[in-house]
Amino acid sequence: MNPENTPHSRVISLVHPDRASDFRAVATPTKYIREARSNFSTACTQCKKIDEDDKSLKRCAQCKIAAYCSKECQRKDWPFHKTVCKESASAVSKLLSSFTVNPVIHSYLQLAFASLFELYKTPIIGRPFIARCDAVIRPEKAYFSRLIIGELTEAEMTQTEGMLQIRNFTALDSETSIDDTRMKAWEATMASVPENCRAMHLALLEYHMDDTVQSIVTPIEITDIAIEAAREKKFWKVKSVIFGPNHQIPFSTESCIEFLNNHIRDDPNNQLRLRQQMNRADIQKLLETLNY
Ligand SMILES: [Zn+2]
Ligand SMILES: [Zn+2]
Repeated sequence: MNPENTPHSRVISLVHPDRASDFRAVATPTKYIREARSNFSTACTQCKKIDEDDKSLKRCAQCKIAAYCSKECQRKDWPFHKTVCKESASAVSKLLSSFTVNPVIHSYLQLAFASLFELYKTPIIGRPFIARCDAVIRPEKAYFSRLIIGELTEAEMTQTEGMLQIRNFTALDSETSIDDTRMKAWEATMASVPENCRAMHLALLEYHMDDTVQSIVTPIEITDIAIEAAREKKFWKVKSVIFGPNHQIPFSTESCIEFLNNHIRDDPNNQLRLRQQMNRADIQKLLETLNY
Protein backbone atom coordinates (compact mmCIF):
# COMPACT_ATOMS: atom_id res chain seq x y z
CA MET A 1 0.00 0.00 0.00
CA ASN A 2 1.26 3.45 -0.89
CA PRO A 3 2.02 5.29 2.39
CA GLU A 4 0.52 8.44 0.84
CA ASN A 5 -2.84 6.69 0.81
CA THR A 6 -2.72 5.45 4.37
CA PRO A 7 -5.70 6.86 6.23
CA HIS A 8 -4.70 8.88 9.26
CA SER A 9 -7.98 8.89 11.09
CA ARG A 10 -8.76 6.19 13.57
CA VAL A 11 -11.88 4.26 12.79
CA ILE A 12 -14.29 3.74 15.62
CA SER A 13 -17.25 1.46 15.45
CA LEU A 14 -20.58 3.28 15.79
CA VAL A 15 -23.02 0.93 17.42
CA HIS A 16 -26.15 2.37 18.91
CA PRO A 17 -26.35 1.71 22.69
CA ASP A 18 -29.78 0.06 22.33
CA ARG A 19 -28.50 -2.52 19.85
CA ALA A 20 -27.46 -4.91 22.64
CA SER A 21 -30.84 -4.94 24.38
CA ASP A 22 -32.64 -5.14 21.01
CA PHE A 23 -30.54 -8.18 20.20
CA ARG A 24 -31.42 -9.85 23.51
CA ALA A 25 -35.13 -9.24 22.85
CA VAL A 26 -35.21 -11.24 19.60
CA ALA A 27 -32.17 -13.51 19.58
CA THR A 28 -32.61 -17.27 19.81
CA PRO A 29 -31.25 -18.86 23.02
CA THR A 30 -28.18 -21.09 22.68
CA LYS A 31 -30.05 -23.97 24.30
CA TYR A 32 -32.63 -23.93 21.50
CA ILE A 33 -29.91 -23.85 18.81
CA ARG A 34 -28.06 -26.81 20.38
CA GLU A 35 -31.24 -28.89 20.56
CA ALA A 36 -32.44 -28.00 17.07
CA ARG A 37 -28.98 -28.72 15.69
CA SER A 38 -29.01 -32.22 17.13
CA ASN A 39 -32.32 -32.91 15.34
CA PHE A 40 -30.99 -31.66 12.04
CA SER A 41 -30.96 -34.43 9.46
CA THR A 42 -28.18 -34.88 6.93
CA ALA A 43 -27.86 -37.19 3.94
CA CYS A 44 -24.85 -39.39 3.22
CA THR A 45 -22.86 -37.73 0.39
CA GLN A 46 -22.53 -41.07 -1.41
CA CYS A 47 -25.68 -43.17 -0.94
CA LYS A 48 -28.00 -40.22 0.01
CA LYS A 49 -29.41 -42.16 2.93
CA ILE A 50 -30.84 -39.62 5.34
CA ASP A 51 -29.65 -39.75 8.89
CA GLU A 52 -32.34 -38.49 11.20
CA ASP A 53 -30.17 -37.25 14.04
CA ASP A 54 -26.87 -36.45 12.28
CA LYS A 55 -24.97 -38.51 14.87
CA SER A 56 -24.11 -41.69 13.05
CA LEU A 57 -22.72 -39.81 10.02
CA LYS A 58 -18.99 -39.15 9.98
CA ARG A 59 -17.61 -36.00 8.35
CA CYS A 60 -14.64 -35.97 6.00
CA ALA A 61 -11.70 -35.10 8.28
CA GLN A 62 -10.15 -32.74 5.75
CA CYS A 63 -13.03 -30.51 4.53
CA LYS A 64 -15.57 -31.25 7.29
CA ILE A 65 -18.38 -30.87 4.76
CA ALA A 66 -18.94 -34.27 3.13
CA ALA A 67 -20.78 -36.72 5.40
CA TYR A 68 -20.80 -40.52 5.15
CA CYS A 69 -22.87 -43.27 6.70
CA SER A 70 -19.98 -45.77 6.45
CA LYS A 71 -16.30 -46.21 5.55
CA GLU A 72 -17.53 -48.06 2.48
CA CYS A 73 -19.45 -45.01 1.22
CA GLN A 74 -16.52 -42.72 1.90
CA ARG A 75 -14.15 -44.98 -0.06
CA LYS A 76 -16.55 -45.17 -3.02
CA ASP A 77 -16.97 -41.39 -3.13
CA TRP A 78 -13.27 -40.52 -2.80
CA PRO A 79 -12.39 -40.53 -6.55
CA PHE A 80 -15.04 -37.80 -7.02
CA HIS A 81 -14.74 -36.12 -3.67
CA LYS A 82 -10.95 -35.62 -3.86
CA THR A 83 -11.38 -33.12 -6.68
CA VAL A 84 -13.50 -30.79 -4.53
CA CYS A 85 -12.20 -31.53 -1.04
CA LYS A 86 -10.21 -28.64 0.40
CA GLU A 87 -8.73 -28.56 3.85
CA SER A 88 -10.74 -26.48 6.24
CA ALA A 89 -9.95 -25.57 9.81
CA SER A 90 -13.51 -24.62 10.57
CA ALA A 91 -16.34 -26.85 11.59
CA VAL A 92 -18.28 -25.65 8.56
CA SER A 93 -21.16 -28.07 8.91
CA LYS A 94 -21.69 -27.15 12.56
CA LEU A 95 -21.76 -23.44 11.77
CA LEU A 96 -24.13 -23.95 8.89
CA SER A 97 -26.49 -26.06 10.95
CA SER A 98 -26.52 -23.39 13.72
CA PHE A 99 -27.35 -20.94 10.95
CA THR A 100 -30.08 -23.05 9.36
CA VAL A 101 -31.97 -23.94 12.55
CA ASN A 102 -32.08 -20.33 13.82
CA PRO A 103 -35.65 -18.99 13.46
CA VAL A 104 -34.63 -15.30 13.34
CA ILE A 105 -32.14 -15.96 10.56
CA HIS A 106 -34.73 -18.13 8.87
CA SER A 107 -37.15 -15.20 8.70
CA TYR A 108 -34.51 -12.89 7.19
CA LEU A 109 -33.77 -15.57 4.58
CA GLN A 110 -37.47 -15.93 3.77
CA LEU A 111 -37.74 -12.18 3.20
CA ALA A 112 -34.65 -12.27 0.99
CA PHE A 113 -36.15 -15.14 -1.06
CA ALA A 114 -39.55 -13.42 -1.39
CA SER A 115 -37.83 -10.25 -2.55
CA LEU A 116 -35.28 -11.88 -4.89
CA PHE A 117 -37.85 -14.01 -6.71
CA GLU A 118 -40.63 -11.38 -6.42
CA LEU A 119 -42.93 -14.12 -5.14
CA TYR A 120 -45.65 -11.51 -4.45
CA LYS A 121 -45.90 -10.95 -8.23
CA THR A 122 -45.37 -14.47 -9.54
CA PRO A 123 -45.96 -17.30 -7.05
CA ILE A 124 -43.80 -20.41 -7.59
CA ILE A 125 -45.95 -23.23 -6.25
CA GLY A 126 -45.51 -26.94 -6.93
CA ARG A 127 -41.92 -26.76 -8.13
CA PRO A 128 -38.58 -25.94 -6.51
CA PHE A 129 -36.63 -22.74 -7.02
CA ILE A 130 -33.12 -22.22 -5.81
CA ALA A 131 -30.77 -19.53 -4.53
CA ARG A 132 -27.07 -19.61 -3.75
CA CYS A 133 -25.82 -18.23 -0.49
CA ASP A 134 -22.09 -17.49 -0.12
CA ALA A 135 -20.94 -17.61 3.47
CA VAL A 136 -17.57 -16.48 4.78
CA ILE A 137 -15.91 -16.18 8.18
CA ARG A 138 -14.96 -12.58 8.90
CA PRO A 139 -13.56 -10.76 11.93
CA GLU A 140 -15.22 -7.66 13.41
CA LYS A 141 -15.27 -4.64 11.10
CA ALA A 142 -13.01 -2.74 13.51
CA TYR A 143 -10.39 -5.47 12.96
CA PHE A 144 -10.19 -4.67 9.24
CA SER A 145 -9.85 -0.98 9.88
CA ARG A 146 -7.02 -1.54 12.30
CA LEU A 147 -5.46 -4.07 9.94
CA ILE A 148 -5.41 -1.56 7.08
CA ILE A 149 -3.91 1.13 9.29
CA GLY A 150 -1.34 -1.43 10.45
CA GLU A 151 -2.34 -1.27 14.11
CA LEU A 152 -2.80 -4.97 14.83
CA THR A 153 -0.61 -6.56 17.46
CA GLU A 154 1.32 -9.77 16.78
CA ALA A 155 -1.20 -11.72 18.89
CA GLU A 156 -4.10 -10.33 16.87
CA MET A 157 -2.37 -11.32 13.63
CA THR A 158 -2.07 -14.90 14.92
CA GLN A 159 -5.55 -15.42 16.24
CA THR A 160 -8.82 -13.53 16.24
CA GLU A 161 -12.49 -14.30 16.44
CA GLY A 162 -14.44 -14.58 13.21
CA MET A 163 -18.16 -14.83 12.57
CA LEU A 164 -20.30 -16.18 9.80
CA GLN A 165 -21.39 -13.52 7.33
CA ILE A 166 -23.31 -13.78 4.07
CA ARG A 167 -21.52 -12.13 1.20
CA ASN A 168 -23.86 -12.96 -1.70
CA PHE A 169 -27.38 -14.18 -2.12
CA THR A 170 -28.23 -14.87 -5.75
CA ALA A 171 -30.89 -16.69 -7.75
CA LEU A 172 -29.79 -19.81 -9.62
CA ASP A 173 -31.34 -21.24 -12.76
CA SER A 174 -33.60 -24.05 -11.61
CA GLU A 175 -33.25 -25.89 -14.95
CA THR A 176 -29.50 -26.36 -14.56
CA SER A 177 -29.03 -26.21 -10.79
CA ILE A 178 -31.59 -28.74 -9.58
CA ASP A 179 -30.31 -32.25 -10.25
CA ASP A 180 -32.01 -35.53 -9.26
CA THR A 181 -30.58 -35.51 -5.73
CA ARG A 182 -31.82 -32.00 -5.05
CA MET A 183 -35.19 -32.73 -6.59
CA LYS A 184 -35.49 -35.77 -4.30
CA ALA A 185 -34.62 -33.66 -1.22
CA TRP A 186 -37.27 -31.15 -2.24
CA GLU A 187 -39.89 -33.86 -2.87
CA ALA A 188 -39.12 -35.57 0.44
CA THR A 189 -39.66 -32.30 2.33
CA MET A 190 -42.88 -31.64 0.45
CA ALA A 191 -44.09 -35.19 1.21
CA SER A 192 -43.51 -34.59 4.94
CA VAL A 193 -46.06 -31.75 4.89
CA PRO A 194 -49.79 -32.59 5.34
CA GLU A 195 -51.47 -32.91 1.94
CA ASN A 196 -53.79 -29.95 2.41
CA CYS A 197 -50.82 -27.63 3.12
CA ARG A 198 -48.72 -28.41 0.06
CA ALA A 199 -49.76 -25.30 -1.89
CA MET A 200 -46.77 -23.54 -0.36
CA HIS A 201 -43.54 -21.96 -1.45
CA LEU A 202 -40.70 -24.40 -0.88
CA ALA A 203 -37.28 -23.21 -2.00
CA LEU A 204 -33.83 -24.79 -1.97
CA LEU A 205 -30.88 -22.95 -0.49
CA GLU A 206 -27.39 -23.86 -1.68
CA TYR A 207 -24.69 -22.81 0.80
CA HIS A 208 -21.11 -22.33 -0.21
CA MET A 209 -18.50 -21.68 2.42
CA ASP A 210 -15.38 -19.68 1.52
CA ASP A 211 -15.74 -20.11 -2.25
CA THR A 212 -15.59 -23.90 -2.05
CA VAL A 213 -17.03 -25.88 -4.93
CA GLN A 214 -18.76 -28.11 -2.41
CA SER A 215 -22.14 -27.03 -1.23
CA ILE A 216 -24.77 -27.95 1.32
CA VAL A 217 -28.37 -27.75 0.17
CA THR A 218 -31.38 -27.38 2.44
CA PRO A 219 -35.07 -26.88 1.63
CA ILE A 220 -36.64 -23.75 3.10
CA GLU A 221 -40.32 -22.81 3.31
CA ILE A 222 -41.21 -19.23 2.44
CA THR A 223 -44.30 -18.28 4.45
CA ASP A 224 -47.11 -16.02 3.23
CA ILE A 225 -46.18 -13.55 5.98
CA ALA A 226 -42.73 -13.10 4.40
CA ILE A 227 -44.24 -12.74 0.93
CA GLU A 228 -46.70 -10.09 2.14
CA ALA A 229 -43.89 -8.18 3.84
CA ALA A 230 -41.87 -8.25 0.62
CA ARG A 231 -44.91 -7.00 -1.32
CA GLU A 232 -45.37 -4.05 1.02
CA LYS A 233 -41.64 -3.29 0.89
CA LYS A 234 -41.89 -1.66 4.29
CA PHE A 235 -38.88 0.33 5.36
CA TRP A 236 -36.65 -1.14 8.01
CA LYS A 237 -36.54 1.08 11.05
CA VAL A 238 -33.17 1.15 12.71
CA LYS A 239 -31.56 3.03 15.52
CA SER A 240 -28.54 4.87 14.27
CA VAL A 241 -25.98 6.90 16.15
CA ILE A 242 -25.68 9.22 13.16
CA PHE A 243 -29.26 9.35 11.84
CA GLY A 244 -31.25 9.03 15.05
CA PRO A 245 -33.57 6.44 16.60
CA ASN A 246 -35.96 6.12 13.62
CA HIS A 247 -33.65 5.88 10.66
CA GLN A 248 -35.32 4.16 7.68
CA ILE A 249 -33.59 1.81 5.28
CA PRO A 250 -35.35 0.78 2.03
CA PHE A 251 -36.46 -2.83 1.77
CA SER A 252 -34.49 -4.91 -0.75
CA THR A 253 -32.88 -8.34 -1.03
CA GLU A 254 -29.58 -6.72 -0.07
CA SER A 255 -30.99 -5.00 3.00
CA CYS A 256 -32.53 -8.31 4.20
CA ILE A 257 -29.08 -9.89 4.01
CA GLU A 258 -27.49 -6.85 5.66
CA PHE A 259 -29.91 -7.18 8.59
CA LEU A 260 -29.16 -10.87 8.85
CA ASN A 261 -25.43 -10.08 9.00
CA ASN A 262 -26.04 -7.34 11.57
CA HIS A 263 -27.93 -9.79 13.76
CA ILE A 264 -24.85 -12.03 13.84
CA ARG A 265 -22.54 -9.06 14.42
CA ASP A 266 -24.67 -7.97 17.40
CA ASP A 267 -23.78 -11.20 19.22
CA PRO A 268 -20.35 -10.73 20.86
CA ASN A 269 -21.03 -13.53 23.38
CA ASN A 270 -21.66 -16.10 20.66
CA GLN A 271 -25.17 -16.92 21.88
CA LEU A 272 -26.04 -17.90 18.28
CA ARG A 273 -23.01 -20.21 17.92
CA LEU A 274 -21.98 -18.54 14.67
CA ARG A 275 -18.51 -17.48 15.78
CA GLN A 276 -15.23 -19.33 15.85
CA GLN A 277 -11.52 -18.67 16.24
CA MET A 278 -9.54 -17.83 13.12
CA ASN A 279 -5.91 -18.95 13.21
CA ARG A 280 -2.88 -17.52 11.43
CA ALA A 281 -3.58 -19.51 8.26
CA ASP A 282 -7.20 -18.27 8.10
CA ILE A 283 -6.08 -14.68 8.61
CA GLN A 284 -3.34 -15.06 5.98
CA LYS A 285 -5.89 -16.40 3.50
CA LEU A 286 -8.15 -13.46 4.27
CA LEU A 287 -5.33 -11.00 3.61
CA GLU A 288 -4.62 -12.63 0.25
CA THR A 289 -8.24 -12.32 -0.85
CA LEU A 290 -8.13 -8.64 0.06
CA ASN A 291 -5.03 -8.22 -2.16
CA TYR A 292 -3.42 -6.45 0.67
ZN1 LIG B 1 -23.82 -43.93 2.60
ZN1 LIG C 1 -13.55 -33.74 2.13
